[in-house]
Amino acid sequence: MSTIVIVGAGVSGLTCALQLAKQGGNTITVVAKHMPGDYDAEYTSPFAGANVLPMAPEYNRWEGETWPELKKLAETCPEAGIHFQKAVLYRRAQDEAAGFAGPLSDGLFVRNPWYKDLVPDYVDLPASEVPEGMSSASSFTSVCINTAIYLPWLVGQCRARGVVFKRAVLKHISDAAKLSHTGRKPDIIINATGLLSCRLGGVMDQKVMPARGQVVLVRNEATPNMVCTSGTDDGNDDELCYIMQRAAGGGTILGGTYMKGNWDGVPDPNIATRIMKRAVEACPALTGGKGIEALDVIRHAVGLRPYREGGVRIEKENINGTWVVHNYGHGGWGYQGSWGCAFRVQELVDEIKSELKLGSKL
Ligand code: FAD
Repeated sequence: MSTIVIVGAGVSGLTCALQLAKQGGNTITVVAKHMPGDYDAEYTSPFAGANVLPMAPEYNRWEGETWPELKKLAETCPEAGIHFQKAVLYRRAQDEAAGFAGPLSDGLFVRNPWYKDLVPDYVDLPASEVPEGMSSASSFTSVCINTAIYLPWLVGQCRARGVVFKRAVLKHISDAAKLSHTGRKPDIIINATGLLSCRLGGVMDQKVMPARGQVVLVRNEATPNMVCTSGTDDGNDDELCYIMQRAAGGGTILGGTYMKGNWDGVPDPNIATRIMKRAVEACPALTGGKGIEALDVIRHAVGLRPYREGGVRIEKENINGTWVVHNYGHGGWGYQGSWGCAFRVQELVDEIKSELKLGSKL
């Protein structure tokens, strides 16, 4: 058995823990400052929508290998809190002319995207279904994850396979060397500390910064579709308009913002008003044609996405004589890439295990 300590209990750490537990041959401890059930802006995972809107400009294995896993859960495992929902993307003419250089300046809105062969039913909508002010629209079948159900479900799946959970706040990644529940020094540490990788000793990754996401969670459930527009007319360039209805009574998420470098964890009332107005305009059925006063707000919230300049970091590194596998910096796609990333982490763990068996010097 190899001894593994995973630091972080967001979607990244929990998915790795489950994948490594399923593999067998690993004794796993998950240690974290925040656990499912906590709400703190710097603990990103509870705040996500979360849905699958592929963002990579071309095929990547993170999103490509995650879709089949989430699809399977939506089909076969109602207790995971994931359901299918149609996603409708609306493109504004000016965003299309600018090559989609907005906050989500990625592969999501391009015509004929790589992911049209990944998700079911990708179609371009006829002009008659494109609202005024939009130049085109596409739709496909996606999923929406109720994070308040899915994260505890991941914990339960891990516990059923013997994973042990502990609270701890680490100053240095090497502190994990003392935290396995077995009392043994771990063979491998997984670093899944998300945004706080920029402050964790031994990592201190200055490429990591928050991309502030403000949302409004409401009880209104009128829309059958998830909606996302390529830009907004009434706000700053770092504001977005998206709507998604979480599975199993999780309410409807109205978003949002993507404010790089902004650490403010308190919802801004002016932004909240703009978010709600846009949502009601994009989907009048939300309030039965009434204004935002008819929105039944559960909570206003902010989560800080773990954005990383240059992209996610998934690699192994030897720190103070112990192998560390990093898995952080997923920005706005941590759920829709979670399984693909966990598969890569497992490959790196396997490489380290076989190196250690060969007796190679660290
Ligand atoms: P986190 O969830 O932040 O977890 C980090 C863990 O590390 C926590 O347990 C924390 O306590 C622990 N930790 C950190 N430092 C220490 C330390 N020093 N000691 C001990 N423990 C430590 N993604 C999608 O795929 N689809 C979406 O629709 C989507 N929508 C989003 C909407 C919003 C508003 C936001 C904010 C995000 C959204 N995301 C979405 C992005 C997604 O939420 C993140 O990419 C993902 O949650 C990152 O997960 P993580 O596990 O890497 O980090």
